[in-house]
Amino acid sequence: MSRTLGQWEYAGRYIHAVFGDEDVHLRELTREAATRGLPDIAVSAEVGRLLALLVGLGGATKALEVGTLGGYSAMWIARALAPGGQLITIEHDDRHAAFAEEHLARAGLGERVDVRRGAALDVLPVIAEELGPASLDFVFIDADKTEYPRYFELVRPLLRVGSVFVADNALGTGSFWIDEEHHPSRTAIDRLNRTIAADRDFSATLVPLREGLLIARRSGAGRSVAEG
Ligand code: SAH
Ligand code: MG
Repeated sequence: MSRTLGQWEYAGRYIHAVFGDEDVHLRELTREAATRGLPDIAVSAEVGRLLALLVGLGGATKALEVGTLGGYSAMWIARALAPGGQLITIEHDDRHAAFAEEHLARAGLGERVDVRRGAALDVLPVIAEELGPASLDFVFIDADKTEYPRYFELVRPLLRVGSVFVADNALGTGSFWIDEEHHPSRTAIDRLNRTIAADRDFSATLVPLREGLLIARRSGAGRSVAEG
C-alpha cells in the first residue's frame, strides 16, 4: 500500500509528538546550540531514542561516532552504554567539539565521552590502530556524506560479530535525494546503502525515520576481521 506525502508528513509529526520527548540536558544543549549559531542538523529526539535503544539492546560498552556537532546524538548514545562504557566521537570543527565537551560534562558524561578533534579520514586509522580488530559494539556515522563509503571501509574491521552500525541521512539530507540524482552525497550514501545490503556479514535495513537511518548488525566474522 502506498502512502501519500501528506501521510508521511503526518506520521513524522505524530512520531515526534509521542516519542520526541527529551530531558533538560538535551533541551538545553539544543537551545544553546541555536543561540551560539551551530548548524541545526542534529538528529531528532526520536532518532536519538532509537540510537539509545540499539545501544541498550546490544548491551554495548564501546561505541564510536563520526560527526559530533554539539554532542546531541553523543548524549543519547553515551547514556545508553552499559556501566563502564565509552564513546569516542570524532569532530573536525574545534568550535563544535568544544561545545560538545562542555555540554556532555554538564550532563555528567565527561568521563564517558572522548571527543577527538580532526578529520574523520585521518582520525579513524589512528583509532583502528589503538583499538584493534573487532573492538567496537556500536558505530554511528553522521559526518561528511561523500565519505560514507570510506568510513565504513575503515570501521568494518573494528566491528565485532553482533555489533551494530548505523548511518544517519541514509535517505539524504535536504532536497538533493530527490532533485539531484547525481549529487556526490547521494551517490556516496547510495553506495554505502547498497554495499551493506550486499555484504553477507551484515544484516541490514533502512528505517525511514526523519532523514533515514541505515541500521546494520554484523552477523558474520568476515574476511577483513580474519585478515586483521
Ligand atoms: N551527530 C550529530 C550531528 C553531526 S552534523 C548529532 O546528531 O547531534 C555533522 C558534523 O560532522 C559537523 O559537526 C561537522 O563539522 C562534522 N564533520 C563534517 N565532516 C567531517 C570530517 N570529514 N571529519 C570530522 N568531522 C566532520
Ligand atoms: Mg545527520
